[in-house]
Amino acid sequence: MNNEIELMSNHKIAIGVSACLLGAKVRFDGGHKRNSYIDDLLSEHFDFVSYCPEVAIGMTIPREPIRLVNFSGDIRVRGSRNPDVDYSEQLSAYGNKVAGSLQHLRGFIFKKDSPSCGMERVKVYAENGHPERNGTGFFASEIMKQNPLLPVEEEGRLNDHVLRENFINRVFVYDRWIELAQSGISKSNLLDFHTRHKYLLLAHNQQVYRNLGRKLAALDGVNIDEFAQQYIADVMAVLKQRANRKTHVNVLQHLLGFLRSCLDGDDRAEVLNAIKAYGKGEYPLIVPITLLRHHFRRNPHHFVNRQVYLNPHPGELMLRNNI
Ligand code: SF4
Repeated sequence: MNNEIELMSNHKIAIGVSACLLGAKVRFDGGHKRNSYIDDLLSEHFDFVSYCPEVAIGMTIPREPIRLVNFSGDIRVRGSRNPDVDYSEQLSAYGNKVAGSLQHLRGFIFKKDSPSCGMERVKVYAENGHPERNGTGFFASEIMKQNPLLPVEEEGRLNDHVLRENFINRVFVYDRWIELAQSGISKSNLLDFHTRHKYLLLAHNQQVYRNLGRKLAALDGVNIDEFAQQYIADVMAVLKQRANRKTHVNVLQHLLGFLRSCLDGDDRAEVLNAIKAYGKGEYPLIVPITLLRHHFRRNPHHFVNRQVYLNPHPGELMLRNNI
């Protein structure tokens, strides 16, 4: 039996990124919007594939800025200074072309607020010039529409530690799913995937986990490929929901239950206190997780040691140190 908590695969996962976030001087003003968290830290763990849709469609650097304009419900991308110039078709066509060739990516990080790359809340101007924050960049829109399972996030939202952990989590889950799909969908590997992700899913939504389990148990006679598409769509959707301290405490207590016969009173009390302190916001999640991992290394449990929850992403990213 493997005495270690099972480790994730160590290949570098590919993620798409808006080029200006990696320091490329491709913005309308000739500058960049380098994001040091992405470019310094995440780059050590992921292979980035950069895209600048505006440069890709032939716009110059520097160039006239563009913006979204609402013409009676028809949203267009127009020049800010010269509103007669329309880039909508070109940006959509480029986005459409890229969106169909992203099988190698496991996530995408977009530049916020951009009429090309913004994922949400991009300013849309009424014809009288009044802006509302309810638009999506034309490039980002195509990427998301054609790749509904692909985890996406904006660089601004990655400053939120919960959203950051959530995004990276989804990237790794999606990568494991693609690996499974490439090895061939079967009832047994679907069940194995579901089992390995049990506590991760429970931390997000107990009900969805149980519903999916029931559907998996009744799989006979069902078209397995169609089922798998719906299954992973449900998994990716539920993982987008924020896990909170209460749901994590529930999962941590369940895991501690597997150690009931192995720990003496002091060790058990130490873990339990750490879980309670985490629940009250006194400790970050990494504290009870580290204690549990320590005890499961010394007291291996075949079921728990395969749980993604205990090791969902590289520890060096320290994603559980601030949540
Ligand atoms: S936001 Fe997108 S289109 Fe604008 S400069 Fe960055 S990569 Fe290019």
